[in-house]
Amino acid sequence: MENTLIQQESDDINYHLHPYTNARKHQEQGPLVIVKGDGVYVEDIHGKKYLEAMAGLWSVALGFSEKRLVEAAMRQFEILPFYHQFTHKTHDVAAQFAKRLIDIAPVPMSKVFFTNSGSEANDTVIKLVWYRSNALGLPDKKKIISRLKGYHGVTVASASLTGLPGNHRGFDLPIDRILHTACPHYWRDAQEGESEEQFSTRMAQELENLIQKEGPETIAAFIAEPVMGAGGVIVPPATYWEKIQAVLEKHDILFIADEVICGFGRTGKMFASETFGLKPDVLVLSKQISSSYQPLSAILLNEKMFNPIADESNKLGVLGHGFTAGGHPVAVAVGIENLTIIQERNLVAHAATVGAHMLKRLHELGNHPLVGEVRGIGLIAGVELVIDKSRKTALEVPGQLGTMVIKELQDLGVISRNIGDTLAFCPPLIITVEQVDEMVNKFKQALDIVHEKVTG
Ligand code: PMP
Repeated sequence: MENTLIQQESDDINYHLHPYTNARKHQEQGPLVIVKGDGVYVEDIHGKKYLEAMAGLWSVALGFSEKRLVEAAMRQFEILPFYHQFTHKTHDVAAQFAKRLIDIAPVPMSKVFFTNSGSEANDTVIKLVWYRSNALGLPDKKKIISRLKGYHGVTVASASLTGLPGNHRGFDLPIDRILHTACPHYWRDAQEGESEEQFSTRMAQELENLIQKEGPETIAAFIAEPVMGAGGVIVPPATYWEKIQAVLEKHDILFIADEVICGFGRTGKMFASETFGLKPDVLVLSKQISSSYQPLSAILLNEKMFNPIADESNKLGVLGHGFTAGGHPVAVAVGIENLTIIQERNLVAHAATVGAHMLKRLHELGNHPLVGEVRGIGLIAGVELVIDKSRKTALEVPGQLGTMVIKELQDLGVISRNIGDTLAFCPPLIITVEQVDEMVNKFKQALDIVHEKVTG
């Protein structure tokens, strides 16, 4: 393969260490080098086109060629290419975007803190929760509960929140004071004859038991994605959220909704907190906030969070936290334009409609011998593959089936992602019904090819 590689491919192998990649295998197989984007499609260095069924990393809401975002960035570069928000300073776009975000928040929120990535945002939230407990004179109220299979980032603290072994193994994580409760995957984990409602009651009871075991007065916050993304696209079962929220309220535990994937229309409403009736104290946003054209994340805090933090900063003299590039003016300018476009073009309603079509088409594959469960909401879906439908098992090596399908699908011109044996679909919000059909038809073809390989 080596001598057929073009320069960028061999440069990549020789000089580039990749995130979420097997570094040794990469040296053998080399990279997929993407060089261009157009709508929901991207093109590789050999001129092959792919439908990007993951919107990059669950994030490119407006597709890969939205000129207005480029123009918004260019305008801001010309006017003010950098300024910060430290020491009582700001720039006009940050103030403007903060107000726009508070205006559209699904529950009353008070202030916005800008950061650059989902991980940084969640790290910041942990610090602000601890700071708040100190402000309230509750130094022992510091533990934060997250969920197994939840994904909240990769920095030392946010990776600790993440409930996936791959983010802890080899890194000496998680850190202390982070706890994990069960993942609500009804299809896989329900007991014989248990209804969704009964399963949700059991999930809430497990949370209650964990809180009692640790001591309710030591638990500061609970963090969750309304729909789990990177853990396998897990949609909560009926009554799950109302029961979980009742437990949190009972013990005065803060609720942090990580809407890094769900926010800005993904579930068919502007925020998944609306879709599921959530009342978070903190809302974490990133990815679709700027369609990922620029790195940007935002934390929305309610009064219950803001007031003690403000008092503590007054007592200590300063809130000793912030990132040089947090709320970078170019990123924020892109964020403002991105939101304007989502609103002007009714892309949230579009995501709901085209998402319903995507789910209908995926559910039609339910009879395929390799399909175990189809799950999703709005324009995000997961299809869990199995070999044995009744036992819900895949191949002996977990993830092997998923990897085989993803490879065939890529050859057919669709980029998706396998989370173990679950195939994720999370295309740009601008995708059309015809493009959804192209995506699902090719997925079916890939399933047929792999089925032939594993049974033939
Ligand atoms: N939270 C959620 C729900 C995410 O999906 C992600 C990224 N996939 C993150 C946080 C971390 O974001 P980042 O990769 O920007 O640090």
